[in-house]
Amino acid sequence: MAEIELLREEIDNDQLPAICLHCGDPNVVWRNKLFVLVPRAAYYGLALGWLPGALILLVMIKRFRMRVPLCEAHKNHWLWRQIVVWGSLPGFLLGLAYVTLFLPPDVVVLAWIAAPLTWASLAFVLRLTSISPTAMTGGSITLIGVDERFQRMVNEDRMMLDLRMRKAAQDRPGGATIT
Ligand SMILES: [Zn+2]
Repeated sequence: MAEIELLREEIDNDQLPAICLHCGDPNVVWRNKLFVLVPRAAYYGLALGWLPGALILLVMIKRFRMRVPLCEAHKNHWLWRQIVVWGSLPGFLLGLAYVTLFLPPDVVVLAWIAAPLTWASLAFVLRLTSISPTAMTGGSITLIGVDERFQRMVNEDRMMLDLRMRKAAQDRPGGATIT
């Protein structure tokens, strides 16, 4: 798995390779995807308490919408992870409520430590194994976990484009010779 920075200009001009972002399969469907990135610094706000922390998170959170190519097998690459993470949350909360109401205090304490940790670990592992953003600016997004062929094709396309632009500059009357 590889990491690559994609430019907004390439995305908007449909210059991304039409192969699956996850496995390199050439039979793709293009899906709309909203990537969300919470800068690490935003988590420090949680030290101020849940409410100020949540407000700081909301202000600092970054979003990047783009079309991504995915094959039939991976077109729900993020969806099933979201279903597992958010779908399991009510189960964890119900379990905690049951334990709190009906079980002895020492079990309750243990459950309140173990349940949030287990849920957070589950969310963390599923995110770690998915294609996810590591950086975002207004003009680019860096994704980790992409297929190496996808990364290679983007780089090859950039080299070709660069060559064509150099050639066009050379061919222009009076154009400078660029080596
Ligand atoms: Zn795929």
